[in-house]
Amino acid sequence: MNTKVKKIVSLCAAGIAVGSMMLSGCGDRVPEDKGEPVVTEFQQEGPAEISVFAMDTYMKVTAYGAQREDAVNAAVEEILRLDQLLSAGDETGEVGMLNRTGSGTCSEDTAYLLERSLELHEQTEGAFNVMMYPLMEIWGFIGGNYAVPSQDTIDGLLPLADLAKVSYDPRSKEVRFAEQGMKIDFGGIAKGYTSARIMDIFDACGITSGIVNLGGNVQVKGKKPDGTNWRVGIQDPNQAGAYLGILQLSDQAAITSGGYERFFEENGIRYHHILDPNTGRPAQSGLTSVTVVSADGTLADGLSTSLFVMGLEKAEAFWKANGDMFDAVMVTDDGNIYVTEGLEGRFESKAGDVHMIRRDPA
Ligand code: ADP
Ligand code: MG
Repeated sequence: MNTKVKKIVSLCAAGIAVGSMMLSGCGDRVPEDKGEPVVTEFQQEGPAEISVFAMDTYMKVTAYGAQREDAVNAAVEEILRLDQLLSAGDETGEVGMLNRTGSGTCSEDTAYLLERSLELHEQTEGAFNVMMYPLMEIWGFIGGNYAVPSQDTIDGLLPLADLAKVSYDPRSKEVRFAEQGMKIDFGGIAKGYTSARIMDIFDACGITSGIVNLGGNVQVKGKKPDGTNWRVGIQDPNQAGAYLGILQLSDQAAITSGGYERFFEENGIRYHHILDPNTGRPAQSGLTSVTVVSADGTLADGLSTSLFVMGLEKAEAFWKANGDMFDAVMVTDDGNIYVTEGLEGRFESKAGDVHMIRRDPA
């Protein structure tokens, strides 16, 4: 057992609460301030549930079983810790500080995420790239000053996103950027890592049934208390508030990347927050939404972003080569839904016919 899990176990055993504020009964209030968790009073029976606003999104953690309260408390503590640690712009955290100074020694979490990110960059032939932050800034996706940059500006910033200019030593865990202004951004993978860490916390607390929803990205532990699969809705990219379909999950994450999530419009053209590292512009791959289902939450998040950048054809080829690790639900610009065959019988469409992607077409 690693030290982190040990710490969580002792937290569970001691029944430590995360902060006194969350113990005041808050009814069904939605948390407004970042970092203020809201408990809807722990009940004698049923689930323990906490909501918190972190990583720019509403998050909800639910657990069943004897240690449910300790589990959700520990989960929220972990969310807040990772939010600060991994946030690209927060200089009080590790990644923010690294971005300011251009070098440093990674903690266990950051080293793990950097290693996974470098690996994904290779596997996806560059579609996944955690060095896009300077481009995210210039498009206004950081800070909110949305504007379409000139081609010269984009060309000037693209070299800062070159992962070959990041030196990382997996033994010493030292990382160094070769150029001034290079910045790392775990925004495409951090939520999946967070939900994966919460599953470790659930394990350490003996939770066999639970679910986390991090802004529409979901990971479940086991099945529902009644023994049936968890049923999780996927947002319809073409209709706000409507479901594209329902996924049945057990011990899996379902993580969605969509161009409809964060975008601005200029001269009638829509620009969204997932960038193609080849062009430095919002990916125009013909996909409007990609949901990746995997037992590995970190992978599911990284791949949802990657497949969105790749487009249907490349994504399909990628799944055929690596499909034992994950499955996917993809929606194209023209509204067609494609589902890989591992989800057969597990995805119920609410928005039209489904094209099944098979490894060996009959
Ligand atoms: P969301 O965060 O909206 O759930 P994603 O998981 O797809 O969706 O992550 C998008 C975020 O990933 C962006 O906000 C940005 O921080 C980062 N990002 C953008 N383009 C890429 C890319 N090509 N590879 C890796 N990360 C990216
Ligand atoms: Mg992602």
